[in-house]
Amino acid sequence: MGKETSPCLFVAFHFSSNSDDTARCGDSKLQPPLFYRGRILPAIPKANHAIDPNLISRAAIRVTQRLQGAGYEAYIVGGAVRDLLLGAHPKDFDVATNATPEQIKELFRSSRIIGRRFQIVHVRDGREIIEVTTYRGPHGSDDAQPATSRQSDKGLLLRDNVYGTLEEDTARRDLTINAMYYDPGKEVVLDQLAGCEDLDARLIRIIGDPTARYREDPVRMLRVIRFAAKLNFDIEPKTKEAIRECAPLLEEIPAARLFDEFLKLFMAGHGNPTFHMLLDHDLLSALCPSAAEAITKDPSFKDMVSMAMANTDQRVKDGRPVTPAFLLAALLWPAVKTRASQLSLRDMPPSQAINSAGQQVTAETCQSMSIPKRFSIPMREIWELQVRLERQQKRRLKDTLSGRRFRAAYDLLLLRAEAGHGVESAVSFWTEQQRLYPDLVGSAKPADDRQNFNRRRPRRRKPGS
Ligand code: ATP
Ligand code: MG
Repeated sequence: MGKETSPCLFVAFHFSSNSDDTARCGDSKLQPPLFYRGRILPAIPKANHAIDPNLISRAAIRVTQRLQGAGYEAYIVGGAVRDLLLGAHPKDFDVATNATPEQIKELFRSSRIIGRRFQIVHVRDGREIIEVTTYRGPHGSDDAQPATSRQSDKGLLLRDNVYGTLEEDTARRDLTINAMYYDPGKEVVLDQLAGCEDLDARLIRIIGDPTARYREDPVRMLRVIRFAAKLNFDIEPKTKEAIRECAPLLEEIPAARLFDEFLKLFMAGHGNPTFHMLLDHDLLSALCPSAAEAITKDPSFKDMVSMAMANTDQRVKDGRPVTPAFLLAALLWPAVKTRASQLSLRDMPPSQAINSAGQQVTAETCQSMSIPKRFSIPMREIWELQVRLERQQKRRLKDTLSGRRFRAAYDLLLLRAEAGHGVESAVSFWTEQQRLYPDLVGSAKPADDRQNFNRRRPRRRKPGS
């Protein structure tokens, strides 16, 4: 994949002195340490960065101002600073402070403390929620601080509420490019770990020893891939090498957290590059083992899923609605189809084979990432419709066309045809039917579903009742 030639960040950097065409914000000679709030920290003054104040949320500014006004330190931090330096609109704003969650809560009427593993405070400001976190410190041993910090035998952080200084908080973050702090009042960026230099070099680099950091929190491996794919950055060699060895650690992550991660990986407009990078680093199997296996064995499945990802990315870019149910149906289809083919060899009829394979693959996948029912039910309906669409039955034509999942099932059929899976004639048939009966497509309302449900055989009355 070709890298963009002009990094969006530095073309916009202005240097008041020593300025030349090659000046970079990450160039250490241009970043003298700054005496700042009583400490010497590597900092980038306003003149040397191109953060556009108009891209900063007013709510985030108010929150930092209120905290600073009460005598605390407070900065906009993490992804928001990274995106601002890249000239992009941050998707949300996080604030880091030395105030404890209770002290934060006292300052903001509309706030609540959430989380257990990491306690954070959600401060509501109008329609926005700003996530405010207290600086984390180095976690102690189990015995020393059982209530605030806990690690499993394998090094996984189970609880992490040890507070620290800004310097310590910086070291606890995941990537150098996510560890910069911005003071919106002074318009200064604190950059202790040369995150700017890595933004400049378009590098994803984990902070500290990669193996130790992945052991503490294996989800960091998925975050490395997510940001590399989203920003089209390279992964620094040590950060990359440790992934293969640490990948099995993802098995320890709760399935609900992995599903949240799945949504961030695939539903944010960069699903296709993310999919390929996950495969390259053997990480897809942490999310959906049977699908990863089927995709690895058959390149045409890989093409099919890649097309589904690319379509979804395009829809996100166009601001059109996307549903995880369809993407999951496409991603897991290779496993369902492979399993159904095995069942058919044992003389199971096709629709029963798809139902049964769908049930097995869903149950297996839910062990690693728990798919909520609101997505898994439509996903299975999309699979089950594949058999009906392949049959091209005239008899139930109107029922099929008007069904709520028809469009999604047809889209999956299209992808299968493009991947060369022998369903071209079914695609032509249903394309023609949609042309003939455009008003029918997907016209069944949820009430009709309920009717179908009610049409099921009435329960027998108990004798004598
Ligand atoms: P996005 O644009 O997706 O919101 P982000 O970098 O802001 O990206 P968040 O999940 O919002 O990501 O996290 C905010 C910040 O918290 C990160 O920038 C990083 O500094 C820190 N962080 C998040 N997850 C971890 C983690 N697993 N380990 C260490 N630090 C983390
Ligand atoms: Mg964020």
